[in-house]
Amino acid sequence: MRYLSTRGGMSPKTFTEILLTGLAPDGGLAMPEVYPEISPATLESWRPLDYPSLAFEILSRFMDDIPAGDLHTLIARTYTSDIFGSKEITPVQMLEPGLYLLHLSNGPTLAFKDMAMQFLGNLFEYVLTKRGEELNILGATSGDTGSSAEYAMRGKRGIRVFMLSPYGKMSTFQTAQMFSLQDNNIFNIAIEGVFDDCQDIVKAVSNDQTFKQKYRIGAVNSINWARIAAQVVYYFKAYFAVTRSSGETVSFSVPSGNFGNIFAGHVARMMGLPVRKLVLATNENDVLDEFFRTGLYRPRSTAETKQTSSPSMDISKASNFERFIFDLTGRDAGQVKTLWKSVDQGGAFDLSNTDLWKKIADFGITSGTSSHTARIHTIRETYRKFNTLIDTHTADGLKVGMELREPDIPLVCLETALPAKFADSIREAVGFEPQRPAGYDDLESLPQRFERMAVDTEQVKQFIIRQTDSSGKMNPA
Ligand SMILES: *Cc1c(COP(=O)(O)O)cnc(C)c1O
Repeated sequence: MRYLSTRGGMSPKTFTEILLTGLAPDGGLAMPEVYPEISPATLESWRPLDYPSLAFEILSRFMDDIPAGDLHTLIARTYTSDIFGSKEITPVQMLEPGLYLLHLSNGPTLAFKDMAMQFLGNLFEYVLTKRGEELNILGATSGDTGSSAEYAMRGKRGIRVFMLSPYGKMSTFQTAQMFSLQDNNIFNIAIEGVFDDCQDIVKAVSNDQTFKQKYRIGAVNSINWARIAAQVVYYFKAYFAVTRSSGETVSFSVPSGNFGNIFAGHVARMMGLPVRKLVLATNENDVLDEFFRTGLYRPRSTAETKQTSSPSMDISKASNFERFIFDLTGRDAGQVKTLWKSVDQGGAFDLSNTDLWKKIADFGITSGTSSHTARIHTIRETYRKFNTLIDTHTADGLKVGMELREPDIPLVCLETALPAKFADSIREAVGFEPQRPAGYDDLESLPQRFERMAVDTEQVKQFIIRQTDSSGKMNPA
């Protein structure tokens, strides 16, 4: 399998060649040359597989330059009941006939990002060890992504994580989750500013090419292809859980932000999984819903981006959306390049009166939006009717999914976080605090380890230099 750029400016590369890089050299995103085609017979033969075996069948088609035995080991080490709480890894719960909840949030940070990130941690360590290289992962977080990355990379050889977060601005749960890590390759840097200040520092450091190369700065952001590929697996797993034969079609409802999760569903569908509809749900930040309703893609400014009670979906533009447009254009990199010329300059594009828009229905994506009132109502009603507590993001997905649900088509709603992470909203909806899973009870009382810094790129760089130079080579290989 070779990988190309959505903007056409990258010579074909293998999977491990694109694994550690962020954007392609031309600013585009890596895409597999073709999607692996899964015949109905192959699909049916996968039905009895357990999660690791199914993951191997799917991931080996995208990661064919990793020896099969090694890939088996990496997958077997990742998708265990120890890490994900059950042998099924992603259990499906029936709420009522035809309506299901796909549990994706039983990993270490209680959000679905662990599904891909835990695998990425093992994959990065494997590739770096093989090459005798090191990586300093630098990121900015306002919550879920940062903790998921830290829990995936903790203790991994050859990897350090420098995670910037706005000092005092995350929930106490999120802060404790990150800052209580004592691993000596994890560095929490609390910046005396807001999330955008953190992101600006990351950008400034990454734009310093000399520094970036010398100190091997990398990222684990949501455009990483390995994360998308790892997320494809649970769409197949859920399909098998709710059907008896591969003649049946299923719809999925996906709480969306950066378009990574739902894009994995799109990939599954392109591979041949009988997906009828992918229902995209946004919160008040409805840039994606606007596109799928009207054809206008208009990324918002930071000032226009609202802070909501489903904060992990508070995005102004959707990084993975470019991959979808690449497919919509019939993989015409020239067109993608033209469209993103305006996006990258802070503009928008409108496909409504174009031939492209006529093809949108072929891709099965429908969309809707939610609000604070609607999500609180959905949490309350789901508890009342099904005796099940869901978090605010999952509530957005369920709300929109129910609105667009079709008779006789099973609907699988993706749970993207546990309610325990968003106690305030849960209390508002049902009048009591959600229970925490075992082991998380006194998270906030654990000792915390972090560095506090001013909004100052130079200080962050100096810190990275000190840690890298003082620890010597981390990788014994
Ligand atoms: C990241 C995240 C989302 C959005 O997923 P995308 O892949 O960015 O669309 C939704 N819910 C939760 C809880 C998340 O952490």
